[in-house]
Amino acid sequence: MEAEQLNDRIRGSLAVLIDSADELRDLDQALGDGDLGITISAGSAAVIAALEQLPAEATPVDIARASAKAFANANPSTMAALVAGALLAGSRVWADVADVTIADAQAFAAAAATSIAQRGKTQIGDKTILDGLAAVADALVDQTDADEALDAAITAAAAAVENTKHLQSRRGRASWLQERSIGMADPGATALQRFVESWKIAGVDVK
Ligand SMILES: [Mg+2]
Repeated sequence: MEAEQLNDRIRGSLAVLIDSADELRDLDQALGDGDLGITISAGSAAVIAALEQLPAEATPVDIARASAKAFANANPSTMAALVAGALLAGSRVWADVADVTIADAQAFAAAAATSIAQRGKTQIGDKTILDGLAAVADALVDQTDADEALDAAITAAAAAVENTKHLQSRRGRASWLQERSIGMADPGATALQRFVESWKIAGVDVK
């Protein structure tokens, strides 16, 4: 996927993702402070606006960096800072990339997951967005067909969210609920699932 198509696809996906803001707010209200809805809606709108302003010669790295900056600046939340850091970490593995392949997307997701684990001081199973992101990175390994890769990513993201329902939250405000967090889906992992699904919906709209 070349840079211009990447820019279009991100903007299309985020326009779809904004429709999940109320669901994410409600999930976060049950487990945290409920700010995830605004984090996603304001962050997505800011990224869309920033990407619209990029020059035609912007590279995939430029797009990832602009997205990170816009998402972080739109929100004061911890989630926004973690996502921005993850996008910057992903951008670093794209230094020489002009045409994003599935392997590049996999490397981006893996770097983003490592960033969230380190900066968020969290690990897989803590019931966070990392559970979904790590599952998506794993699902993209050795994929060769773009549609199949995306379907595998969606399946993995959904399974990760389902799995978080059985887990106790160990990071962030949700961890204050202790065992009362068991039974509810993690809002961050759900946001990641909705983003991956949005990527597919935006692709269908393009065709
Ligand atoms: Mg929150």
